[in-house]
Amino acid sequence: MKILVTGAAGFIGMHVCQRLLARGDEVTGVDDLNDYYSPQLKADRLAQLQPQPGFRFQRLDVADTKAMQALFAEGGFEKVVHLAAQAGVRHSIHHPMAYGHSNLVGYLNVLEACRHATVQHLVYASSSSVYGGNTKMPFSEDDPVDRPVSLYAATKRANELMTHSYSHLYGLHATGLRFFTVYGPWGRPDMAYFSFTKAVLEDRPIDVFNHGRMARDFTYIDDVVEGIVRVLDRTPDAGEGPPCRVLNIGNHQPEQLLDFIACIESATGRRARLNLLPMQDGDVPATYADVERLERWVGFRPTTRLQDGIRRFVDWYVGYYGAPAA
Ligand code: NAD
Repeated sequence: MKILVTGAAGFIGMHVCQRLLARGDEVTGVDDLNDYYSPQLKADRLAQLQPQPGFRFQRLDVADTKAMQALFAEGGFEKVVHLAAQAGVRHSIHHPMAYGHSNLVGYLNVLEACRHATVQHLVYASSSSVYGGNTKMPFSEDDPVDRPVSLYAATKRANELMTHSYSHLYGLHATGLRFFTVYGPWGRPDMAYFSFTKAVLEDRPIDVFNHGRMARDFTYIDDVVEGIVRVLDRTPDAGEGPPCRVLNIGNHQPEQLLDFIACIESATGRRARLNLLPMQDGDVPATYADVERLERWVGFRPTTRLQDGIRRFVDWYVGYYGAPAA
């Protein structure tokens, strides 16, 4: 299969490319390698991919319409995994234009290119943030998603609506995946699990918002990759409903932030120092994925226990950055 992965130097993108290359797909990865977080980490992720046969990389901004048209004209892609986006809930409060650029203009370019190239299946990243302050647990795909509490969430919901129109008008086969707090090796330094681990290892206090009364459905990267690849491979049979759908991918087991920090303490063998703070704008008190629909569609639900996933993350972190002396 010839597959395009956007955001290939990103956390999830790198792992998806690894998996597709391991099974023999021909993968083109694109990324603009922006400096939202460590360009060195992105370069090191790419360095994992570049020596592998079947991998080709192009530095490109998905919001550049001409570059995207040229990429698809010569690529002959059969499937597309679109992960490139300006991520981060809090960052969107102060940097709204970056979200319009990558997540709206960039995504429209992806849709247009897929339609003209007659791509068989587009799988794109949505987010649990579309559920906003939903208090009905767990979050089901049928719950209302018309009250985003950050611009980031609004752009992800907009992606789902844009996709619906392309599927309706042009029959584009597309699946949106609502990821729930993905963590693991090669993860994102802007996310709490990463900065918490760093702070614990460096014996610095951790800023814990909403006084720790926050729950997240932390989902291990290998489970997310398994879900993405199974969904990518799945073609709807005739009469199985519309050509576009949205699915949750989450661990289905929300953890309180303080229990999560206890896991980091146990994996690092060090005590955390907590700086308890009020809730931040744009944050939601809890996330919790209903994964029945995912399981029905591809026969899979995430299974990695938080303790195991965090241990693997901490092992990677210490191997990559080294462990400061206690
Ligand atoms: P990431 O930031 O590590 O990866 C995104 C990659 O896209 C980055 O390497 C970045 O350089 C690239 N990119 C950004 N804008 C671009 C542009 N205009 N053109 C080309 N490349 C661009 O994030 P991630 O955690 O790997 O997330 C992947 C996707 O999943 C994103 O769409 C994100 O919004 C979504 N998501 C992630 C999580 C999570 O917990 N990690 C949760 C929900 C949704």
